[in-house]
Amino acid sequence: MELTVKNGHLFWDGCDTVDLAKTYGTPLYVFSQSIIEERCQELRRDFVDKYENVRVAYASKAFSTMAMLKIIEKQGFSLEVLSDGELHTALQAGFPVEKIEINGNNKSMVELEMAIDHGVGRIIVDSLQEVDLISAMAQEKNKTVNILFRITPEVNVATHSFISTGQKDSKFGIPINDDILFPQVQKAIEAAGINFLGFHFHVGSQLSDNSAHLGAVDIALDLVKMVKERFDYEISELNFGGGFGVRYTDEDIRQPFAYFLAPMMDKVLAFCEKENYPQPAVVIEPGRSIVAEAGITLHTIGAIKELPGIRKYVSIDGGMTDNIRPGLYDANYTGVLANKADQAAAETVTVSGKACESTDILVKDLELPNVETGDIFATFSTGAYGYSMASNYNKLAIPAVVLVKDGQADLIVKRQSLDQMIQNEVIPESLK
Ligand SMILES: *Cc1c(COP(=O)(O)O)cnc(C)c1O
Repeated sequence: MELTVKNGHLFWDGCDTVDLAKTYGTPLYVFSQSIIEERCQELRRDFVDKYENVRVAYASKAFSTMAMLKIIEKQGFSLEVLSDGELHTALQAGFPVEKIEINGNNKSMVELEMAIDHGVGRIIVDSLQEVDLISAMAQEKNKTVNILFRITPEVNVATHSFISTGQKDSKFGIPINDDILFPQVQKAIEAAGINFLGFHFHVGSQLSDNSAHLGAVDIALDLVKMVKERFDYEISELNFGGGFGVRYTDEDIRQPFAYFLAPMMDKVLAFCEKENYPQPAVVIEPGRSIVAEAGITLHTIGAIKELPGIRKYVSIDGGMTDNIRPGLYDANYTGVLANKADQAAAETVTVSGKACESTDILVKDLELPNVETGDIFATFSTGAYGYSMASNYNKLAIPAVVLVKDGQADLIVKRQSLDQMIQNEVIPESLK
């Protein structure tokens, strides 16, 4: 990991992280706008500008805040949302609605209605009830809705089983099957109010090997051919999801986007050439790979507990409430003491959170300089699925978020106040 250290302090996109911790308090999420923009530039160079008719739709669940969506909009990217809340955030940020697509294996009537009323660009169908529902709603509202089907490509994925989504037994996607998918396809082709564009898959997350993506592209292209043969219908769009891996620790590899996308696009282009098929639009939905490495979290070290001969616990003023990934799927992280960033390692400690769960351990057996109460601990690569999965467990407040660029810092999410945490609570008369 390449770090910028000045006067012993860790700097992040030109800002002194120790100063940020002082100014905004801890826990604090800090996002480097420059790193987010670098990832977007790489996507533009190796995908958007390299091929015709391709788009990037940022998977907003990785980190959905209005400021973040503004950065994405300025890149000219589209947006992928999953819920009314993510759609609302996008609409409130002024994101162009025709560039929004909505996914989800259980969209509510309210969400479908909201999506259709506002005129989202695409609805990605992931249930057997949706085509009828969308068709009825679209006709009632005198609209035409673009849809794709999310398919289950049935590829095995080399990632933690909890974040693998493309296998046969999955709540995600529609199995490619004569009895299940094809009647839906026929319906979509014929139904009023529906413009059937094509197919979508998302094989899993945090992948550093392209074989699952490539296998899924083959399966999707076979399907495209079958649909042409059976229904004499040419699809116009394919969506290959996200899942491109990032570096959490030095053991992880972050492959360049082109490692995945170049061979995937080669397959599509070769297929079109061979089958004399009009080149469909190709969309990808990266989430983690755009924001994960841009974000760090700052915590203040509090209690230090040495269990002689066992381990030394150093506790932070947050934990699973601002980063549930270690507890949820054994995710590994690394970090440094931001105020002692130039000091050599002197001891091995376990960084633990303050929530009442034994799994609330942020980093096990980490080498750090001598840890003292009051030190600032910076965890790397927390930009994706950190803030977005934050909770109020133990009634800990959701931390603030700061966006930094070239030494300039802006607060983009204020720290939740204690009163905000209970603002929706009501004591019934009978208990007063
Ligand atoms: C989560 C998700 C993504 C983004 O995945 P990353 O691993 O963050 O890139 C894209 N598409 C769909 C449908 C998803 O569920």
